[in-house]
Amino acid sequence: MRVVVLGAGFAGLELSTRLSEELGDDVEVILVDKSEGFVFGFSKLDVMFGRTTAEAVFHPYRDLVKPGVQFVQAAVQSIDPANKRVETDAGSFEGDVLVVALGADLDPGATPGLLEGGHEFYTEAAAFALRDVLAAFDGGRVVIGVTRPPFKCPPAPSETALMMHDFLVAKGVRDRSEIALVMPFPVPIPPSPDASKALLAAFADHGITWMPERGVRELDPARRVAVLTDDSEVAYDLFLGVPVHVAPAVVVESGLTVDGWIPVDPSTLATSYADVYAVGDVTSVGTPKAGVFSEGQAKAVADAIVARHRGADAAGYDGRGLCYFEFGDGKIGKVDVQFRPGQPPVGELSGPSVDLAADKAAFGAERVRRWFGREWSNV
Ligand SMILES: Cc1cc2nc3c(=O)[nH]c(=O)nc-3n(C[C@H](O)[C@H](O)[C@H](O)COP(=O)(O)OP(=O)(O)OC[C@H]3O[C@@H](n4cnc5c(N)ncnc54)[C@H](O)[C@@H]3O)c2cc1C
Repeated sequence: MRVVVLGAGFAGLELSTRLSEELGDDVEVILVDKSEGFVFGFSKLDVMFGRTTAEAVFHPYRDLVKPGVQFVQAAVQSIDPANKRVETDAGSFEGDVLVVALGADLDPGATPGLLEGGHEFYTEAAAFALRDVLAAFDGGRVVIGVTRPPFKCPPAPSETALMMHDFLVAKGVRDRSEIALVMPFPVPIPPSPDASKALLAAFADHGITWMPERGVRELDPARRVAVLTDDSEVAYDLFLGVPVHVAPAVVVESGLTVDGWIPVDPSTLATSYADVYAVGDVTSVGTPKAGVFSEGQAKAVADAIVARHRGADAAGYDGRGLCYFEFGDGKIGKVDVQFRPGQPPVGELSGPSVDLAADKAAFGAERVRRWFGREWSNV
């Protein structure tokens, strides 16, 4: 059986690894990604705040050596879901099963003034470049703002605000700075009331202004103000934005999307085309756009492919994810959350505590060991 996997992010890496572990050379996995390597989302914040370097958080795909898996560095140019065939700039590939795991693309240009008057911190290039911008920042009004949902890793803007506080304290410029956080949600992490309460308390403790239930519509670079979706304005000296998210153009052009994202069966991750699955951020499956959910969906699809190979049944996707997030002061919170179709999500908070930093480090290290076969530490 040949499985063509498009995208080697959280989902594509987990899917290929699990298929290789379970089936080895009995399956031919072709894993396609245009990049040279993988970077965890949380590493972007670590680089941006000067905790580590871009080189230290880069995991090259050349280290991905697994029985049955062939990595192809190529840009996907078109997807024909009816024939499970894709065209890339390194040739065409056809599979018995096709899995689309191409993630969410970012469109900073969709927000007028964002690139001219501020910075986005969600692409690798922009987050890494912000390291020098932050190092040179001498204090002032910092605004961290989300344009609109959906966006990756809903806790990340809150983490950024708390990490910014620590960063400015360490620089000795916190007393002449202000930090505001603009979010299109009523609370920081809607699926987890406990985590939201703890974050709101941390914002209050650290003098961070919480501006809920609105997004950033545009920046006016000349006046240095962000114009919000409720028509109010907030002045800034440094603006860090979460840009508009969209499905990659090649996915939209394939006809797989409805209202911008790929609809899938929430239990099987099957699309409307036979033997074509979609997993992770590129879908509208109903879980947040976060690596842990992409990974869980990839596991479920891998298990279905393995079960099919063995003539057995698979359990299906359980909607569960474990998210670690920075609380500042070296503390980490952990939310164990489950999304079930038709039911409100249930999320339980552990911490925040300094002890959980070791768990977060282990989360990264375990994945680099499994996916790339080498040791790594993000601390
Ligand atoms: C600042 C920040 C912090 C985050 N922190 C966390 C966290 O702590 N925990 C967590 O779980 N998640 C976190 N996330 C979210 C996480 O990074 C994403 O949700 C996750 O990577 C999604 O996985 P995915 O496999 O669906 O897509 P991705 O990981 O985005 O993978 C998609 C892949 O497809 C490739 N691709 C796209 N288009 C093409 C094409 N045309 N041709 C070839 N290849 C293509 C891309 O190169 C990419 O490698 C964070 C994100 C950010 C921005």
